[in-house]
Amino acid sequence: MSVWVIAEQREGTLQKVSLELLGKGRQIADKLEEKLVAVLAGYEVEKIADTLIKHGADEVIILDHILLKNYTTDGYTKAIAQIAMERKPEIIFIGATNIGRDLGPRLAARLKTGLTADCTGLDIDENTKNLLMTRPAFGGNLMATIECPNHRPQMATVRPGVFAVPCADDRRKGKIEKVAAQIKESDIRTVVEKIVKSLEDKVDITEAKVIVSGGRGVGNEEGFALLKELAHLLGGVVGASRAAVDAGWIGKDHQVGQTGKTVRPNLYIACGISGAIQHLAGMQESDFIIAINKDETAPIMSIADVALVGDLYKILPELINEIKGYKD
Ligand code: FAD
Repeated sequence: MSVWVIAEQREGTLQKVSLELLGKGRQIADKLEEKLVAVLAGYEVEKIADTLIKHGADEVIILDHILLKNYTTDGYTKAIAQIAMERKPEIIFIGATNIGRDLGPRLAARLKTGLTADCTGLDIDENTKNLLMTRPAFGGNLMATIECPNHRPQMATVRPGVFAVPCADDRRKGKIEKVAAQIKESDIRTVVEKIVKSLEDKVDITEAKVIVSGGRGVGNEEGFALLKELAHLLGGVVGASRAAVDAGWIGKDHQVGQTGKTVRPNLYIACGISGAIQHLAGMQESDFIIAINKDETAPIMSIADVALVGDLYKILPELINEIKGYKD
């Protein structure tokens, strides 16, 4: 019996969510007194296996095959399902990235089990030892805790940024096992001819330490220039509520919340954002929150560490000038 984390790598680089899942997976495995196993599929990916051990895995199973060099639904599903059927893990965690969202359901169907997608909380029921998988339901208006009592493995996908990355422990030792994936070319119905990277200047707000976020209260696209200036001065990036994204003032990549990204920066400055539950779901784990809002009763004000009541167009320029003065 073991708890598995499917470690995601792209071109040999581990995705941060895999480390986040190892942190949570470690806690779950300890509660069950089971091993934590990372499953790493790819081609010539052995060099990153040690990082998985240092972040909490007891064992790493490497599924190494030239046909696993690029992700394909067929190849990865077959290779991982085979080893899962053989070793029968109790639990499988997958990051809810584009790849994880594709792989998770396919793998669950192959293993004839259930999958809870986009979990924001994971725990173990003390009595039944079942996995408790919590996720927003009904448009985020309530949190549902889901169990999978009759089938194994219990499977969950978790969005990047929900859990913290555990500190690496360089003294940790573990078993690294290379397993030959039993796949052949005819198993894979998709041919990856080439990978074209988007030339668009994409932001990854999930990695940022400082986020200056704007909502409907910013009022227009030009207003976001002010937020960008503050973000730049603080070495951060710009985030947004869905209202601002839907209005076309900023790209979807910047959206924080239930249908956007989950972030946990050191500092989150919310400007002209009311704090709807779907927005809070994506940023309430931030270390320090400053909210700027005209309305002192806006929900964001009650979760903020510092709530500034007033017009953001008066407060932000003053803040920017103060910081510039401090820096000079
Ligand atoms: P509003 O709620 O309109 O708030 C604007 C705020 O700006 C007000 O509090 C106002 O007092 C303040 N304000 C106005 N002018 C100024 C000024 N000059 N200075 C200072 N303050 C000012 N939302 C998300 O953000 N992310 C999501 O991922 C997301 N997913 C969703 C998923 C579902 C299924 C659903 C149903 C909704 C989702 N939403 C999401 C939408 C969410 O419910 C809210 O509608 C949205 O977050 C509101 O955005 P807002 O706070 O910018 O706008």
